Amino acid sequence: MSLVLFNDLTRQKETFTPIKPGHVSFYSCGPTVYGYIHIGNARPFIVFDVLRRWLEHEGYTVTFVQNFTDIDDKMIHRANKEGITVKELAEKFIGEYYKDTDALGIHRPNVAPRATDHVPEIISIIERIIANGHAYVSDGDVYFDIRSWPKYGSLCKQNLEDLEAGARVEPGEKKRDPLDFALWKAEKPGEPSWDSPWGKGRPGWHIECSAMSSKYLGENIDIHSGGVDLTFPHHENEVAQSEAASNSGKPFVNYWLHNGFLLLNKTKMSRSLGNVLTAHEAIERYTPLAVRFFLLSAHYRSPINLALDPDTHVSESLVHAAAGVERLRNCRSDLDFAAKTRADDASAFDVEKYQSELEELHGKFCEAMNDDFNTAAAIGILFDVVYLINTSLKENETLPGKFFKLSKDALKEYDDILGVIGPDDAEDEHDDESAEIERLIQERADARKAKDFKRSDEIRDELKARGIVLEDTPQGTKWKREL
Ligand code: AMP
Ligand code: ZN
Repeated sequence: MSLVLFNDLTRQKETFTPIKPGHVSFYSCGPTVYGYIHIGNARPFIVFDVLRRWLEHEGYTVTFVQNFTDIDDKMIHRANKEGITVKELAEKFIGEYYKDTDALGIHRPNVAPRATDHVPEIISIIERIIANGHAYVSDGDVYFDIRSWPKYGSLCKQNLEDLEAGARVEPGEKKRDPLDFALWKAEKPGEPSWDSPWGKGRPGWHIECSAMSSKYLGENIDIHSGGVDLTFPHHENEVAQSEAASNSGKPFVNYWLHNGFLLLNKTKMSRSLGNVLTAHEAIERYTPLAVRFFLLSAHYRSPINLALDPDTHVSESLVHAAAGVERLRNCRSDLDFAAKTRADDASAFDVEKYQSELEELHGKFCEAMNDDFNTAAAIGILFDVVYLINTSLKENETLPGKFFKLSKDALKEYDDILGVIGPDDAEDEHDDESAEIERLIQERADARKAKDFKRSDEIRDELKARGIVLEDTPQGTKWKREL
């Protein structure tokens, strides 16, 4: 069973074959760091994090590069408004980006290059595009010459005439054709600038990804990803620039992947429209796991709607996602607890049959992930596993040690890919806090035995204040951390 990806270049599902066996070069367009990311921005970061984890699970070594756009019109405008430098603004929001994405369990890229650290590489690639006859200098600006590039429009599947109809020339732009786009912009007063062969100026937006992708991954890479709004013009321009610079006839990217939009009450969530729920707020109010669960509960190419009550600001979608996470976590903690209280290798439970049921589900999980990493289906199968575990726990007084090992391993394997169950409280058994919790639970049990209910209530309240909830069962007291 091999991985199939929907390639936007051909608009069809294709079997994934890497350039170098066993290795995947993966470039993902990162954020423009002029503000907090919203949960629409978080969608590509989370879904492509899962693809990366799946590739690693399948044994590939993945080199994952994701840039920070730290210079563009929006950055300059925002820095001026706040009275700080563009660099200070970038530092602040790169820090905030990592706070949010670390909380969301998104693995950090292997390389996270910033545009402003790559001006020499950007200048060099522009020089190559000019030398190859695909760009021209105009009064300190440099433009890509669309008419010299007949393949333009091959990614977004539009012909030049249609694209031309939608193009316009901004005031101050000195280009030959409205579709031509800036590779380099001449210095304007009050803007950061760098020396270049064409005078002082700064890079256009699209060129940074071509320069950084080829620097870290080479001229022909396996996967390039981003939100669907980047297909045109950003990715179309990247293809033109990279292939015009390399002039090798090789494609810039073999597989182009784009995620669908996150909608807020049926309208695209976007910073410019102002209809945003920041990732930070969503994490605080609903937990990072709920945000991740919600964004993975639809196929990455489909739009996904976040229902948010405009008056109360409560999101039914995230409440629902939080309940899903809770079911998953409860299954794992019930399993941990039963392993301590009900494991018995003499149990009559048919563990061989159970193992083959788990294996069948494992096959289905892999099938779903190999089918264009269908996380919605994969989460469905995770719930089938949970159902199987819960039923076994309910129907059997005792269970063999192997049952617990198989079940825990299955949950861990799936969660290493999806990241929707999160850290395991019971795995912290040996840390000091967990030992202290266990000690207090024992003290509470002793107090209850001695009918000292004042003390036992005190202990419950003390633990509650520390975010630990207790549940008394016939087998003893279970505890878990509140999310
Ligand atoms: P930006 O910081 O605006 O360049 O966006 C970072 C990433 O978020 C890009 O891959 C965008 O395509 C993506 N993105 C922005 N808004 C949305 C949305 N509402 N839904 C899904 N992806 C989005
Ligand atoms: Zn990009």
